Amino acid sequence: MKQFFLVFLVTILFLGCSSSNDSSDSNTQPPPNLKPATVNHHKSSIPNLVVMVDFANITTTQTEAFWSSKIFGTNPGEANDYYAQNSYSTHFQLTQPIETYNTPNDGIIKVTLSTNHPNISINSSGFKNTIQQTLASALNQADSYIDFSIYDANNDGYLQNYELNIIFIFAGYEDAYEGKHVTNGVWAHSSCFSASKKYDGVEVSNCKKNGSYVVVGEQHNASSPHPATIGIIVHELGHALFKLPDLYNTAGSYGGIGGFGLMSSGMWGFKTGENPGATPVHMCAWSKTYTGWITPKEVSGPSTLTSTDQSGYDIIKIPIDSTHYYLLENRSVTGYDAGFKKILINGSSYQGGILLWKINNNKLTVDNFLYNNVNADTNNKGVDVVEAKNPVLNNISNYGSVDGFFFSPNATAYKSIFDGVSTPASVMNINIK
Ligand SMILES: [Zn+2]
Repeated sequence: MKQFFLVFLVTILFLGCSSSNDSSDSNTQPPPNLKPATVNHHKSSIPNLVVMVDFANITTTQTEAFWSSKIFGTNPGEANDYYAQNSYSTHFQLTQPIETYNTPNDGIIKVTLSTNHPNISINSSGFKNTIQQTLASALNQADSYIDFSIYDANNDGYLQNYELNIIFIFAGYEDAYEGKHVTNGVWAHSSCFSASKKYDGVEVSNCKKNGSYVVVGEQHNASSPHPATIGIIVHELGHALFKLPDLYNTAGSYGGIGGFGLMSSGMWGFKTGENPGATPVHMCAWSKTYTGWITPKEVSGPSTLTSTDQSGYDIIKIPIDSTHYYLLENRSVTGYDAGFKKILINGSSYQGGILLWKINNNKLTVDNFLYNNVNADTNNKGVDVVEAKNPVLNNISNYGSVDGFFFSPNATAYKSIFDGVSTPASVMNINIK
């Protein structure tokens, strides 16, 4: 289990991974109460070009068919299955662009660069420039197999993140898995080009119009490698496609929302016999409202909550004041939330339960999104988990505990808040006092 804590500790060093400009090192005070414009593009699908990048000194180990299935497939452990289960009636899917490389239209173009793997730590000052030189070389080759211009649906000369996103899979290793830089490793991230990268007459992945790309390393665990699991891929796509912020503490080693959502350490969820990240837990309730996939309901008195893996999944909103509110959701024991079992303290006893979220709009500001600081203050988070019993997230570096859930064995700890919660079931009767 050691590597998971390492991953967590160093993940927090990765500042600005959701930032879409060059100023992510700044840390100015945000203007109060300024909510970022929603980035909900109301798309049920977005074309994603996958570029496998081989280098002179290291090449990819998996076939194009393998990565086409991992990204576009709809079986458990494949990215489109994850997004289908998280987006409910929207049924969001990544689609394969039209391309002529090898197997046409499988969404995969493989390029071979004459240079070695950039092999640069994300903590190095030259990281972004070095990586973007590599990406430009890869795009120069990929351009032969795709007409980027056909994805500029609004004809503004730029490919927005909802018109075409690019996923670069670098041969070599994933630094985020190791929690440190390894030889021929790259730290997964989502970013964009500030400089012009024009192909077929359109700017590709340009920051100016919300263009985006994702970079991941092909293999996890350099000492005993396996192909990357989907967790970190769907996490980075959460940044690129939906502009979701990181919800771990981007400025410290503990706090944030721990393992309770995809945009934090929940990306590393897995089940017995799997590798970490094979079963990333669901996006948290707030993230699903931000993407526009769920509109929370406001209730009074007894109500029901359908669990995350069911088509009727819903969220209850309880206003506190003009800027704060609670969200309640019912996390499942099956589907992707089964990934809780291997990452939470006492996770083996996880049977599902209610999560209570406290949302602070004062922290959900344009600047905090821009600088990835939504949850950078442990004592004042934008998106917080109200742990049912024995809170641990703010005290030690961990992914959280099953005690964070409201469920019947915890009842004495929270009876003043709820009645009638909650034996594990897909629909629970609850009574908010
Ligand atoms: Zn991130």
